[in-house]
Amino acid sequence: MSSPDLTEADRQAVMEVINTPILSMGQHILDFEQTFCDRIGRKHALGVNSGTAGLHLCVRAAGIGPGDLVITTPFSFVASSNVLLFENAVPVFVDIDPRTGNIDPKLVAEAAKSIKKFLPRKGATDQSTLKAILPVDVFGQPADMDAINAVAVKHGLTVIEDSCEALGAEYKGRPAGTLGDYGVFAFYPNKQITTGEGGMIVTDDKEAATYMRTLRNQGRTVGDVWLQHTHLGYNYRLDEMSAALGVAQMGRLDELLLKRQQVADWYEALLTKIPGLETPIIEPDTTRMSWFVYVVRLDQNIDRNTLVKQLKDKGVPVRPYFLPIHLQPYMIERFGYRESDFPVTEDLGRRGLALPFSGVMRQDQVDYVCQSIREILSAA
Ligand SMILES: *Cc1c(COP(=O)(O)O)cnc(C)c1O
Repeated sequence: MSSPDLTEADRQAVMEVINTPILSMGQHILDFEQTFCDRIGRKHALGVNSGTAGLHLCVRAAGIGPGDLVITTPFSFVASSNVLLFENAVPVFVDIDPRTGNIDPKLVAEAAKSIKKFLPRKGATDQSTLKAILPVDVFGQPADMDAINAVAVKHGLTVIEDSCEALGAEYKGRPAGTLGDYGVFAFYPNKQITTGEGGMIVTDDKEAATYMRTLRNQGRTVGDVWLQHTHLGYNYRLDEMSAALGVAQMGRLDELLLKRQQVADWYEALLTKIPGLETPIIEPDTTRMSWFVYVVRLDQNIDRNTLVKQLKDKGVPVRPYFLPIHLQPYMIERFGYRESDFPVTEDLGRRGLALPFSGVMRQDQVDYVCQSIREILSAA
């Protein structure tokens, strides 16, 4: 499905760290954090050991606690909602824009105005307060953040931008991750850059950054002596090997993004000629797309399961994308969600198919995928 893009120099960067005694909390994490401040122009960056950990720390820093409400999207990777459940907060889902798959800012505005109408069937109380909005830059395309921020300002809400799929993307010329109060990136091997496992939080809020640094390191604040812990914290530290790989990868970010763009362009050129599917829509506000995955939408009358099986027989791995969060078993159990609660999300969830995608794909591989799809669909 995907493959990391690593050079000999990237591997060498990791090897150099292994040959030193400092494998955690050394200079490389600081260097990695600095690459983010420099690249996207935020005052503070904090390396953590996953994107999920990063989102969780933002939830803590935003003061989101038991029973608090956060408006977010059901069309995402589960982590963006799970971090709310970690604190016993309640994700209040609103449906998405059918073009981009990003949270619909008109619904965000409606929900912020009369949140009661948007509460899940169970799991939230009348005493709950709305604290934040958590939009996701889905598939590498920024959410409509100006509209979302306008709602946040009007209602005094914190905005946590989940940019885990959108490193390098730009919205009206501004980098993804800088568009809310907090931004979070992730570096699992299928992301635009990888550190194996890893994540990065960016913010301009100095106090929050200091607090999150503390939580990342088992709750030790500045001045705490060894084994003294002021807060309940976590081990969310990023090790030095990962950080060194991150620095090397960040040095190649534009090259990595261009290669992914090229693969997306090859797909687009071939797939637009095939009836029965739609290629991704990029909004004019997305002044730079950062391709994370390449997801096509099948026409209603195409049986996705059959297509998946037939492509697998031809050696082409594809995957349905996303399975809506509100229909995950634990979400149904906890909040009483049902089928048809979020029709646009469910429709895209039923018709979306992620094709093999990475920056190291060759043109002949893309040709083969498209040729296989064409053959199967025209035979059907
Ligand atoms: C990848 C991803 C995350 C978290 O990533 P991990 O590093 O695997 O914890 C969070 N949100 C979204 C939307 C993602 O795609």
